[in-house]
Amino acid sequence: MLEEVSGIVHANASMAALLGVEAAALHGRRLGEFIVHEDRGAAMALVRSVRSGKSESETADIRFQRSDGIVRWGALSIATSGPGVTNSLIVVLSDVSERRALEERLVHEATHDPLTQLPNRALFLERVEHALTRSSRTAERIAIIFLDLDGFKAVNDTQGHGAGDHVLQAASRRLLSATRGCDTVARMGGDEFAVLLEQVDALSGAQAVADRIVCALRLPLEVGTLHGMVVGASLGIAVYSGLEDTTELIRKADVAMYEAKLRNPGRWVVFEPAMQVALIDRVTLQADLRHAVDRCQLELRPRLANTGVYTSYGTLRAASQTEFAVYYQPIIDLKSGEVIGTEALARWTHPERGAIAPDAFIPLAERSGVIAALGRWILNEACRQGAEWNARRPDAPLTMTVNLSGKQLEHPGIAQEVESVLRDTGLPAARLVLEITESVIMLDAEKTLLRLNELKALGVRLAIDDFGTGYSSLSYLQRFPVDIVKIDRTFAAGMRHGAEGIAVIRTILALAEMLSLRTVAEGIEDPEQRDQLLQLGCDAGQGYLYGRPMPCSEIEAMLMTARSPDVSQPA
Ligand code: C2E
Ligand code: CA
Ligand code: CA
Repeated sequence: MLEEVSGIVHANASMAALLGVEAAALHGRRLGEFIVHEDRGAAMALVRSVRSGKSESETADIRFQRSDGIVRWGALSIATSGPGVTNSLIVVLSDVSERRALEERLVHEATHDPLTQLPNRALFLERVEHALTRSSRTAERIAIIFLDLDGFKAVNDTQGHGAGDHVLQAASRRLLSATRGCDTVARMGGDEFAVLLEQVDALSGAQAVADRIVCALRLPLEVGTLHGMVVGASLGIAVYSGLEDTTELIRKADVAMYEAKLRNPGRWVVFEPAMQVALIDRVTLQADLRHAVDRCQLELRPRLANTGVYTSYGTLRAASQTEFAVYYQPIIDLKSGEVIGTEALARWTHPERGAIAPDAFIPLAERSGVIAALGRWILNEACRQGAEWNARRPDAPLTMTVNLSGKQLEHPGIAQEVESVLRDTGLPAARLVLEITESVIMLDAEKTLLRLNELKALGVRLAIDDFGTGYSSLSYLQRFPVDIVKIDRTFAAGMRHGAEGIAVIRTILALAEMLSLRTVAEGIEDPEQRDQLLQLGCDAGQGYLYGRPMPCSEIEAMLMTARSPDVSQPA
């Protein structure tokens, strides 16, 4: 307790102890000297209020600085020393640092995620709300990025929750490093994160941050026994138009993220109004897909069931007019520039909507259970084509590469099915490569391993597709009978960004070499990328530089005449 008029008149021993000074030494000094600068205004407001007679006493929490420099929280009470007496005040100060610390901890716990210490959903919503309010005054641009780690469930399931936690913590650190101090990075729950960007110039600013996030998350990670694990994420971006409320803006980012997972996993997508429509559209599309698959099955029936009802496979093919087609993209030996094989890529032409991308209809086929039938048709078609080409160029046989969906791999009869297609079409097993995406392998590692061993026993080769976009690490994949690693096309794109992008590819190639895996780089679009990949020791590549996926008739010209397209020769 102390009394103050224009300076301290009397201070008791506890006040002196609190401030860390002799009681006598306080005489004549001003209370304000002990209060930290930022809180002096609040203290003076109390004094004014009491002096003016508005109230007899006032209390507030302020920070005071002891003579030894330590800052503590205090509850400051100012009161008149008697009724009507305003020229002398009684000041009571008590140390409430512990209470304040507890309160702060409670607030922190209520607003932060305990694992990553990032703001949680509640705090994120509050920050967005504030940002929107502020921007209506300042016309500041705001954007939200939603992201979801790709295949996180697989890590948790195969590596345990400890590893999962580790990944989440690493991801949150990387998110922080990829954003600015004024941005809010929050964990929304599970493996979902969100970023609030304030003061972004425009859409391009948000896209630049999204690019940085994609790159940062891609850097290999050490998790327990997994070395060089790569974490990918799908991002949705929503830019504030000035009209949305918090819920709406967040929903847009969420819809865009969903779209990214579907169309562009491991990358970002910006919200467009059409996406909401797309969500509804998907349901009708699913029904159309089922019909189309039913129809294409007619083609296979005579071969599979061997009923003898259909006399000629060829005429039936012409008559059924399937909506599906297989396109082929050349795969090139980077050193010689020669075409060494093709990848079969499915195409669907919807009677009313036209071309629908495989990224859209393959997941749809998986969800509606028609992937097994569709996959069988594609495999059959590709192997038949591969056998035909090889019969025409026996001196330099080509490899046929076919994508297998995770759902196909789940099927216990998949190996027998592949075997029967090889037998029917006459393609030697050694000429077939089956591609399985990295995330599928990780999903149920034990079951996958079983199936892959069965396939491998047929003599076909196996490739890991989209390597680097999921969660696996090459050393983990060592357990799988894999022959080829296909480096996801985002890495080829990343090479354009200089040393960091090249370092990731170098790491993947070094690991592949250690494990004696062949490497195929996807998405080679310009000669610089090809030269760099060749120099880094990558074996093969595919991409628009050499040829887009094309219908059979077009690629045939390339395969049967000139062995190598001009552009394929390294400089
Ligand atoms: P994927 O297996 O990674 O196939 C490569 C994709 O990259 C193809 O897209 C191809 O057109 C595209 N691409 C090739 N070179 C370049 C390039 O230089 N630059 C860029 N930007 N892109 C390039 P597409 O044909 O749209 O297929 C998309 C995905 O759909 C495939 O990715 C694959 O995962 C899936 N898919 C396609 N056909 C089938 C299939 O028959 N069965 C299964 N299960 N999935 C398929
Ligand atoms: Ca592929
Ligand atoms: Ca791929």
